[in-house]
Amino acid sequence: MKEWMKNVRTVEPYVPGEQPKDANVIKLNTNENPYPPSDKVLNAKLDLEKLRIYPDPEVSALVEELAKYHGLNNDQVFVGVGSDDVLAMAFLTFFNSEKPIFFPDITYSFYDVWADLYRIPYVTKALDDGFNIKPEDYKEANGGVVFPNPNAPTCVYLPIDKVREILDNNRDVVVIVDEAYVDYAPESALSLIDEYDNLLVVRTFSKSRSMAGMRIGYAMGNPELIKALNAVKFSFNSYTMNYSSIVLGVESVRDDAYFKEMIQKVKNTREWFCKELTRLGFSYPETHTNFVFASHKSVPAKAIFEAAKENHIYVRYFNKPRIDNYLRITIGTDEQMKTLVEFLEKFIDNYS
Ligand SMILES: *Cc1c(COP(=O)(O)O)cnc(C)c1O
Repeated sequence: MKEWMKNVRTVEPYVPGEQPKDANVIKLNTNENPYPPSDKVLNAKLDLEKLRIYPDPEVSALVEELAKYHGLNNDQVFVGVGSDDVLAMAFLTFFNSEKPIFFPDITYSFYDVWADLYRIPYVTKALDDGFNIKPEDYKEANGGVVFPNPNAPTCVYLPIDKVREILDNNRDVVVIVDEAYVDYAPESALSLIDEYDNLLVVRTFSKSRSMAGMRIGYAMGNPELIKALNAVKFSFNSYTMNYSSIVLGVESVRDDAYFKEMIQKVKNTREWFCKELTRLGFSYPETHTNFVFASHKSVPAKAIFEAAKENHIYVRYFNKPRIDNYLRITIGTDEQMKTLVEFLEKFIDNYS
């Protein structure tokens, strides 16, 4: 071993879902939105001369637009380059205890990567057999709590009274609720940020807002949490958000009618697709997201995953304990889901 290698920060990186180069595949593997961003985004005028100067380090236009949209003050909103950036920044800012942070054993697989990267001790808490988070597991002393609601990749939603139970038992640490999919769910924890000054709610433009390629995420919480996040951000890189993301992000928030319409469309397709899955012999927890987490009664998930890929349909498969017989299937357009159902029907029929 070379001497300098002893000082290298070695990490096991997060592996994102595949982004196939072939544009003709049906892509249901990374929970993107099948519909384009709002016309307001598509038709926005970018003044590219502005690229000469640095973008606004405070991201004021987008912070103001989001604050107005959610009925908050500007000092309650922090914007970052995708919610991955916001979450990474939040881990660095808030999880500095000697005590371990807690998160579910089956959850967004970036959490343990950030914890390892920043040397944050952590303990995972097992979901129950229905993949529900058990609030009673989050009572012991800890260095912070983070979980997605609805959870990924399980698609299971934790009712707000249970979120409140976790908060009530964790008044002295920061609790991060990652709401990447909340627009497809009954209720957000946002209504609790005035009551709990230690609650940070994180959102993204990547799923419900059809803007994964733009990289916009944000956090909402008590002004003191937001101030702490900004201090860390400005110790890292003042200009995280580029000019075009700021302009197009604002346009997206301004078109609420389109946003709501696309959410309803995905929900309608989801309802139809779930019935089809049941008919085909799949079981799945009730989904409150833009994806389904499904397991077939006789055909192994891995076999379906591989065959679907050969047929140019990409879904997500996790070769991990407890979930290695499940597929995470993003809700696409009606047409895409019909093609998938036709494939599944044939494949399951012929599988022996
Ligand atoms: C997609 C996703 C994110 C990351 O979203 P970006 O804003 O694209 O970085 C964060 N958390 C969960 C649970 C997700 O599914």
